[in-house]
Amino acid sequence: MRPLPRSPTLLAALLCTAALIGTAHAAPQPHSVLITGADIADGTGAPLRKASVRVKGDRIDAIGELQPLSGEQVVDARGLVLAPGFIDPHNHSDEGLETDPQAETQISQGITTLLIGQDGGSAWPLGEYLERRRANPPALNVATCLGHATVREAVMGQDYKRAATPAEILRMEELVERGFKEGAICLSSGIEYVIGSYATTEEIVALSRVAGRHGGFYISHIRDEADRALSAMQEVVTIGEQAKLPVQNTHIKLGTKGVWGKSAEVIALYDAARKRGVDVSADCYPYDAWMSNMKVMVPSKRWDDPVDVGRALDDIGGAQNVLITGYTPDTAYEGRTLAQVAASRGITPEALFSEMVAKGDAAIVGKSMTEEDMKTLYQWPWTMVSSDGGIGMEHPRGAGTYPKVLGSYVREKQWLSLPEAVRKMSGLPAWRLGLTDRGTLEPGKIADLVLFNPATVKDNSTYEKPFLLSTGIEKVWVNGQLVWSEGKATGERPGKVVTR
Ligand SMILES: [Zn+2]
Repeated sequence: MRPLPRSPTLLAALLCTAALIGTAHAAPQPHSVLITGADIADGTGAPLRKASVRVKGDRIDAIGELQPLSGEQVVDARGLVLAPGFIDPHNHSDEGLETDPQAETQISQGITTLLIGQDGGSAWPLGEYLERRRANPPALNVATCLGHATVREAVMGQDYKRAATPAEILRMEELVERGFKEGAICLSSGIEYVIGSYATTEEIVALSRVAGRHGGFYISHIRDEADRALSAMQEVVTIGEQAKLPVQNTHIKLGTKGVWGKSAEVIALYDAARKRGVDVSADCYPYDAWMSNMKVMVPSKRWDDPVDVGRALDDIGGAQNVLITGYTPDTAYEGRTLAQVAASRGITPEALFSEMVAKGDAAIVGKSMTEEDMKTLYQWPWTMVSSDGGIGMEHPRGAGTYPKVLGSYVREKQWLSLPEAVRKMSGLPAWRLGLTDRGTLEPGKIADLVLFNPATVKDNSTYEKPFLLSTGIEKVWVNGQLVWSEGKATGERPGKVVTR
């Protein structure tokens, strides 16, 4: 022992150090994990490189040729890819996070952060919703948009089937202001849907200006994803240009025969806007079909009118693009297309359609996109991966989106390189959401990580069994804690509410 120093300041310093050493002994060092020998896809699109990654506490501590520290937990990741956790910019787990905070269908895909409050609908008041998430944390991080229709209905009540007055728009602006103060990071709209569709472009521009002032962006289920999709996309550009904020065409789609094959025009429109300084981007889910009932195909609701039914079948590219998945009056139809059943019965598809709706309707899967358009849209550098899924979603995209892109679009079809696909799942959405400490692998960033096997990763969810979990996602960490390992949730729920 050294003699006690005479200076009281030095004495205090020494006692302080002793106290610190004391606490260090009482409480363990921050949890430290070394992931060794992985191929790193760092989220920037850079080529894969071999390195080890050390995680300390909730952060990435170091990346490189690292030796294990004594007592450190080591994960042997040879043959596996380590990537930043996937950030889903369009997710519908708003209620699911309350009922199923473990979120197995989401973390098992490698999703570590999701953006809810989509298509114009969000919780309100947002602050209270986010408080409940903090009190009952989920396994993964959550960020939210403020819904345009939510705000519109709060101001206009049930009298929303018209343009809003200037006074009403002012009141909506105040609510948007409040929503962003309470933690929203974007303004969402669903202007194909009933409440939002009555809004003028001017109304959305006014509200987007408020969102932009708070550093937010506008994310839109656009006015038309069918025959008038191109003009609806032009409206997205106009909103970005006039409100001066970043804009995102969410779950981008060319959904009817009238616009199939126009993906190059879409890219040209958006590239031209980007050149003028409009920060427009998109997200896309990797499925070329929707799931609903037959009735929704005929907007006029005249299901026994052969002309209207014929037009609906034409829009979808023909009766061979309607797959019957559920039909109680005759289960033998299930798994066959409308064209196949009509041919076997010797009647027209229109007649069969009318008969089936009259007998109680059928569950169907309808084609929405061509493969060529999907490929072109995915290959645009500003398109990120999204699921439009979420906890409890009865569509295979709810549990299969990210493994499907990695297995099908990267490994099998080779539309995207693996580093580029990972960028579209992590670095690019992090940039769009403004999450500066997530989305790439760098020392100092938060340790949201996915470890997967590039040779086996694949989705297993189908239209019939939408909740089947994927294979090949080996381990997932959220804020430095392991939440998914060896095909199971660990039970940890380290998710945080992410705001700006
Ligand atoms: Zn939508």
